Amino acid sequence: MTEYYYPQQMARIILLAMEEVLGRDGLRAVLDLSSLSAYADEYPPARSDKTFPFKSVTRIQESLEQAYGPQGGRGTALRIGRASFQYGLREYGSMLGLTEMAFRLLPLPAKLRIGAKSFADLFNKYTDQRVRVEEQSGKILWHIERCPLCWERKATEPVCHLAVGLLQESLHWLSGGKIFTVEEIACIARGDSACTILIDRTPIS
Ligand SMILES: [Zn+2]
Repeated sequence: MTEYYYPQQMARIILLAMEEVLGRDGLRAVLDLSSLSAYADEYPPARSDKTFPFKSVTRIQESLEQAYGPQGGRGTALRIGRASFQYGLREYGSMLGLTEMAFRLLPLPAKLRIGAKSFADLFNKYTDQRVRVEEQSGKILWHIERCPLCWERKATEPVCHLAVGLLQESLHWLSGGKIFTVEEIACIARGDSACTILIDRTPIS
């Protein structure tokens, strides 16, 4: 069976975000539940080596639900996703050109289009995650075709909440503080062919 991986740097970003949202004790408890206790004392380095298995990323998501209950687990995963964007922006933002003035001055529709594409490219190029962006009128569909968040999971509802939080925060940042509807409408864990996140291009506020 093929193993797929995230780079150490992305695992580091997730752990930093978990520490921010859960606190040190909460982080330790979730890592203990995930049989990943060693990472509580030493985060992976900010390197591009792909060594952090998808199954560990998924186990962390399951442990959040175990530790905080289904609703609480979903809420914390969303918040960890949002915090991950902020850490990720520091690590990858300049490389993607997203922090350059020329990009920041583009009108919102262009920012959404270019931002979604370069964000998808980041995952496709530096990780084993596969993302395909589909544009529809008024909507963007973010298809995760190989997903680290629900790797070999079975569920009756979509479970990739961290990705939803990540996209929510990226849209908030791109638009200079607006809120968008972001919803996972399909999930591989539920038997769908991809984990699909629907983004409404028109902000709510
Ligand atoms: Zn998924």
